[in-house]
Amino acid sequence: MLSESSTQILLVVVSVAFLALLILTVISFFRRRRREIFTAPQSQDLSQSPESFAVSSLFEATMGSMREGLLVVNKDMRVIASNPAAHKLFNPSMSKLNSQRLTELTRNPAIYSAFLDALKGVERSGVKVQTHGPERQVFDLRVVPIGGRNGDGAEGALGVFFDITRMERLEMVRQEFLSNVSHELRTPLTAIIAFVETLETGALEDVESSKRFLSIIRRNASRMHGLIDDILELTAIEGGNVTFRAGTVDLHALVNDVCAAFAAKAAAHDVALVGNVQPEVTVYADGRRLEQMLTNLIDNGIKFSKEGGTVTISYKPGSAATGERDQILVEDNGDGIPAQHLERLFERFYRVDRARSRDMGGTGLGLAIVKHLALLHGGEVTVSSELGKGTIFTIHLPKA
Ligand code: ADP
Repeated sequence: MLSESSTQILLVVVSVAFLALLILTVISFFRRRRREIFTAPQSQDLSQSPESFAVSSLFEATMGSMREGLLVVNKDMRVIASNPAAHKLFNPSMSKLNSQRLTELTRNPAIYSAFLDALKGVERSGVKVQTHGPERQVFDLRVVPIGGRNGDGAEGALGVFFDITRMERLEMVRQEFLSNVSHELRTPLTAIIAFVETLETGALEDVESSKRFLSIIRRNASRMHGLIDDILELTAIEGGNVTFRAGTVDLHALVNDVCAAFAAKAAAHDVALVGNVQPEVTVYADGRRLEQMLTNLIDNGIKFSKEGGTVTISYKPGSAATGERDQILVEDNGDGIPAQHLERLFERFYRVDRARSRDMGGTGLGLAIVKHLALLHGGEVTVSSELGKGTIFTIHLPKA
């Protein structure tokens, strides 16, 4: 999350610097060509001086390559200059924007009043503009007056439409994440406070009840601990702040180790763990990160298996010659996952059955962590599932 906000700050700083540079370029351009440009936009005048030619070439190149929409209107609110990005924003089907009235381009009152204010000499910034086409876009509009000193209004106004769609989306993701985290933390915290209060108000005398309440407190505290660990881990992976050392990994040994670590849990759930990887099979990966992925997937396999179920870990070799990736499969014969959930399964905090996941001490972040670790390897993780038959998670790893 930190890196997202740093990116946003950087974007704002770059945008402001860029706008300042742009305004300087435009003002210098207008100083040189004021008379021509306020009558009608002209094509390149070959008789102009080399210096003027250079400035106007720079101006046109800048306008053409900008991602920001740029629109200049004269006193009559007619467009006298625009760039391709503005054209795309307002009306891609119109042959040209120049000489159109602003009201013919948009009925958005916020845009109109921002340009009107600028013509009166008042600079406007932070005007939020949204498009409602098939692809929703959000812009931050800044309009500055051009020319017109001595208090008699401006000769024109320059508007820059900064595309902040991505920043808005990131902000939404951030807010959703924060609200999910708060919600997830609040539930165990509420239970802890409630049981501590019960102990304080007399239950402490009853040894049996006290033991039970303390175990509930411990379980909820562990859940908070697990959640914080997972959040920190995911944030570090997403922010690229984890060490990643890929090399040749003995998959047979790694799978055996992870299965051994889960032996007690599997036995408690009456689930058989089968490591079906031949000796001497190796993959190209960061061993610790691969172990983390297998741990999360096997843990889920055990949790979501029925009593007497089996979780199998197997390997399908890829081929460096054809570009096929190695595959590590974690397969269970549990209840399976309804098809409509599969697409969103790797999203943070997404669960098929929220209450069941919580009861089993889940954080809802395990699969998101697996997804990001697989991406870190240049690979991916996929899932296929059949209701009543079971689920297969596959880690795809590129060959060395
Ligand atoms: P959780 O902490 O809830 O296990 P995960 O991100 O690991 O969080 O998994 C998200 C959800 O995906 C789980 O809550 C569960 O609904 C579903 N899920 C994951 N693995 C399996 C599986 N092997 N079988 C059935 N459902 C699964």
